[in-house]
Amino acid sequence: MKNTSVKFIFITGGVVSSLGKGLASASLGAILQARGFKVKLRKLDPYLNVDPGTMSPYQHGECYVTDDGAETDLDLGHYERFTGVPAKKSDNITTGKIYSTVISKERRGDYLGATIQVIPHVTDAIKEYILSDISDEDFVLCEIGGTVGDIESLPFIEAIRQLRNEIGPSKTCFLHVTLLPYIKTAGELKTKPTQHSVKELQGMGVQPDILLCRTENIIPEEQKSKIALFCNIKSDAVIEALDCHSIYQVPISYHNHGLDEQICNYFNLKVQKKPDLSRWININNIEATSEGIINIGIVGKYTSMIDAYKSLIEAVHHGGLSNKIRVKIKWIDSETLEDKKIDLPTHLKDINGIIVPGGFGQRGANGKINAIEFARNKHIPFLGICFGMQLAVLEFARNVLNLNEASSSEFGKTNLPLIGLLTEWNSSKGKELRSADSNLGGTMRLGAYNCKLLDGSFVKSIYNKGLISERHRHRYEVNYELTSDFVNHGLVFSGMSPDNSLPEILEIPDHPWFVGVQFHPELKSKPFDPHPLFSSFIKASLNQSRLL
Ligand code: GLN
Repeated sequence: MKNTSVKFIFITGGVVSSLGKGLASASLGAILQARGFKVKLRKLDPYLNVDPGTMSPYQHGECYVTDDGAETDLDLGHYERFTGVPAKKSDNITTGKIYSTVISKERRGDYLGATIQVIPHVTDAIKEYILSDISDEDFVLCEIGGTVGDIESLPFIEAIRQLRNEIGPSKTCFLHVTLLPYIKTAGELKTKPTQHSVKELQGMGVQPDILLCRTENIIPEEQKSKIALFCNIKSDAVIEALDCHSIYQVPISYHNHGLDEQICNYFNLKVQKKPDLSRWININNIEATSEGIINIGIVGKYTSMIDAYKSLIEAVHHGGLSNKIRVKIKWIDSETLEDKKIDLPTHLKDINGIIVPGGFGQRGANGKINAIEFARNKHIPFLGICFGMQLAVLEFARNVLNLNEASSSEFGKTNLPLIGLLTEWNSSKGKELRSADSNLGGTMRLGAYNCKLLDGSFVKSIYNKGLISERHRHRYEVNYELTSDFVNHGLVFSGMSPDNSLPEILEIPDHPWFVGVQFHPELKSKPFDPHPLFSSFIKASLNQSRLL
């Protein structure tokens, strides 16, 4: 590590899961940035998967893809949305990744005959990851997944304990996020679970420096003093983290409750100047004053687990911010649209725009195709993302070109694989190869790829430039050689890979707004910099609502 002045903030969670540690970390990153500091955020995940790429979205929610092609935890999406700092492969570390590193070193004989143990070998590998790939950042924020007390997270807690000893308290701060439950019958916020959680941490040799207490109610001063006394910290370092109406209020709320001031005090940094939170104030003002509401239908398979669409939900919201309109998402389970007899106009009434997002597998695919056909015929704005774009190709082939057999190799053997498995393609790293029986983990077309936009196309006017870079995560591609007839019937491939082999964007010029993209634009949208496709799509949906 060349940068010797970098400071680490380790964020742990206690009492219960789902405390919003990811958002808390992202928000802290945002306020430190507002104070002029350069930040990096990292997630240390205790599960045994090498990455979340092979996990079901039902279990783990969205898999967030970075520019450099890593499949990572969805918290990295929060980090990027709040700080604008592109996440990297090195920013998500899992137990699986640590163990595979340690085991391959052992196989190579790198440990020179030593007995390999959790302490020191696994903890050393964790520390190495934490200290790696740091340039000129002032702060590196490391969130530790899971809840203190979990068996799985022990090596991570032990590693940060060791790091504090090695680089000293002036370079490391322990921030613990806890919950203060409100017991109605007693009319009180309870501090005991927080005390226990801190005790648990202390038992592992980690004394928190700052406590961030999630609460539905204001924390009375005497409760703060009590927490401070029992948890062995200063009363000022007990920070109230009251529930907010919008996640984009959180940075302001934390600042108002002194979180950044406490961090600066802890590290002996000057705090005379106030942070520049104008970006967040602006977003909050728009949210508070937005008028009108439009309904966007998202037709997907994972609608019972909406964390699977985390970035998409945010990107749609950002599109609303740029049009000063509130967007309500209506979740539509694609399987419910499978039945040809279903009355789509009734089912999709009040919907001003339809999104078919990314997805995998045959189940529900025909329901999505029915929704796409409806959007195309009824002139409802439509955005197809990744799988949604592939299905838009199949819909057009089947219903406009009467190619009834048109299908995707993802659904099994087909005579007309309009969507086929890609076995060879060019990336910035050179030629990438894959076969039908490659491992599932890490073998999709992943990460940022350039895309050329067709002159005079609708998408070029939306992006307002000719070359874009967007993030991918898919195994199948539109089989360009089989689509020569599309353009004569009104569907144009208006974005292509630079070597002209892979269609990346489709559009129907003779439709108010019909765009399919092979990539995931939602991954790059920020509240302070909404993605142009979402701004434009929401604008078109707003226009559609005015026609009703
Ligand atoms: N299942 C499709 C593929 O692998 C689409 C993936 C996605 O939507 N992310 O190509």
